[in-house]
Parts: sequence; structure tokens; C-alpha cells
Amino acid sequence: MFVTRFAPSPTGPLHLGHAYSAILAHDMARAAGGRFLLRMEDTDLDRCRPEYDALIQDDLRWLGLTWDGPIHRQAPHISSYNTRLETLEDKGLLYPCSCTRSDIRAALAAPQEGVAFNVYPGTCRGRPMTSRLPGDALRLDLAAALTLLGTEDLSFTETGPAHPGLHRIDAVEAQARIGDVVLSRKGEEIVAYFLASAFDDADQGVTHVIRGEDLFDFTPVQVILQRLFNLPTPIYHHHRLIRDAAGKRLAKRDDARAIQKYRAEGATPADIRRMVGLPNP
Ligand code: GLU
Repeated sequence: MFVTRFAPSPTGPLHLGHAYSAILAHDMARAAGGRFLLRMEDTDLDRCRPEYDALIQDDLRWLGLTWDGPIHRQAPHISSYNTRLETLEDKGLLYPCSCTRSDIRAALAAPQEGVAFNVYPGTCRGRPMTSRLPGDALRLDLAAALTLLGTEDLSFTETGPAHPGLHRIDAVEAQARIGDVVLSRKGEEIVAYFLASAFDDADQGVTHVIRGEDLFDFTPVQVILQRLFNLPTPIYHHHRLIRDAAGKRLAKRDDARAIQKYRAEGATPADIRRMVGLPNP
């Protein structure tokens, strides 16, 4: 059974880029006779708003998309994601980190195009968990994790247009490009977006992850986490990004491209499909 999902963060209105992602995933699921799930990735308690959650649902319905089953929201599960992290702690793969908040915040936030991770220099690596202070973040000791995984198959299949094929994760390259990522920020108990997303894809039985090309660089770390937690690896499909007239990726702040605005101007769902280059059913 083909199972995919649309997983927006309700930090702003749905814009053309999200509409493309949602319609594509929906249409692929329906064509395969599979399931299309909706997941609100609302772990960033500072920026997520219930108004946006409601608006996103309203726009998706207006676009003619229906999702299967109830909406899954992450915020109520933050403490259970943190509990699951203890498995890694037991394996000695986590360490507390007190490096600057802006560094940690950047590592936890949704990615910007072209910048996946700020590779951490390892300043706090080797600190025992017993030295953890209330404001400390938790980092994955990637070298130790890769050693533990040994000869396990670290590969994933990509079907998107930019990098189709089988991708094998190389340990040396992973350390150079990913490094010791932040998995959780204590104090506020916020778990990294890519970790919550990896847990949920497994828990929701997602077989195909369909999402924007800007998230391609996050896939290797998600695959490493899947192996560490014994979770299955879905097939990935990173789609092209919808850009503005200047060729820049659309972001939440691009309210000018908000679906609400097109709706107010009288556009139809068929117009939106045409604008993002998707066929009408
Ligand atoms: N929540 C992420 C976003 O809004 C998408 C996560 C995913 O599709 O894996 O960009």
C-alpha cells in the first residue's frame, strides 16, 4: 500500500509552493490507490499558530484535496519523542552541548535552501550526560553512531527528478557534511524537526516521502536515525521548488503568493494547478 503525507508547519499561510507539494503527493497517492495523510509539524511552539493550522486545512479543502484519517499533530507528542531519545542516550550516542543558542536554533529550524546543517565543530563532544545543565541541547555523536552501525546498509532510494537512484551514505562524507546534529533542546523540550518527522513517518506507515528539493540534504541524517531506532526507510521523492519571478524559493513570508490571496482575487483550484504546472484531474 502506497502511503504518503503532506507535512506543513503551521507557521504561515499556504503558498503556491506548498500547494504544489500537497497536490503532487495527493495525486500520486490517489493514482496508486494509496493513502494521503496530513500531518501538522507544529513542534516550534513559538512560531506555530492554530489560525494557520485552520487556514491550511481550509486551503487544502478548497484545492479539492481530501486526506485519509485524522490530522496528526506533533506538539502533543513532544515529550514522547524526547523519551524515545533515551534509547540513544543508553547507547552512549548523545552528549550535552552548551554552545550558543543561535547556533543551536539554526540547527533545529526548518532548513533554508542550500544550507542543510551548520557542521558543529565538536566543542562539547565527550561531555558526559551527567554534566547536562538545564539549558543544554543534546547532540548526536555521529562518529560513534556510525561506528555502532558498522556495516549496516545506509542507503535510500530517491525517485525525484534532481537525484534519481540509489544513494549510499558515506560515513566520511556524512561527518563532513552533517556532523553532530542537535536532536533536542532542553528547557523548552523541543525536538529537532527532522527527528520528529522521521519518527512520525515510521509510526504513520509512510512508504513514500514526497517533499521539496530543499529537504534532500536532510535525508541522510534521517536515514541514519532510522537505522539507530530500527525504523524502516521510505522511498523519497524530492520535487522541484516553485520559485518567485526572481527565481527565489518561496517562503512562508511570501504572503504575496498565499493561496488565500489568489482565492480572494477569484482564482479557481484549476488555475492554481495550472500555475504550478500540474494537470487538472
Ligand atoms: N514540515 C516541513 C516543512 O514545512 C516538511 C517536512 C517534510 O515534508 O519532511 O517544510
